[in-house]
Amino acid sequence: MGLEPHSPLTELSLEAIIALLHSRGLRVTKGRQKILETLLEATEPLSLEEIQRRSVVDGVTPDYATVFRVMGLLEELQVAQRVHLNRSCSYFELLDPQQHYDHLICTQCGRVTLMVDSCPVEKVEQAIGRRYGFTDVRHSLEFFGKCPECR
Ligand SMILES: [Zn+2]
Ligand SMILES: [Zn+2]
Repeated sequence: MGLEPHSPLTELSLEAIIALLHSRGLRVTKGRQKILETLLEATEPLSLEEIQRRSVVDGVTPDYATVFRVMGLLEELQVAQRVHLNRSCSYFELLDPQQHYDHLICTQCGRVTLMVDSCPVEKVEQAIGRRYGFTDVRHSLEFFGKCPECR
């Protein structure tokens, strides 16, 4: 399992992300910190609405525009990525610099399983980089099927 060279972080933690944001001169408000905590606690990619619903601080729900901006920023910093899961809206997940995963999605119930330690194209990725002269090649795969409960 090769390290993902793309994330500017060396480990995925709240402290590491906050330090990165500070190093870019960005303020980390209580609301922003809660959004980061929501992402770190998530076991599957979340939509903007889900991030919003789970990031309530003292009874206050962050507004959609705030969540949208934070996710855009994290994406730009390559700390988070967008996945589509064959649905109409985007889902977001943090990029773990120490671990890469692809997705297995149930077409019946929508459950998302993260495929850890079984990337089928890691070698192919290196070959693609060489073939086309690209560095920092990355991918996010989505496989679809019926989960054990829906079979
Ligand atoms: Zn299912
Ligand atoms: Zn992969």
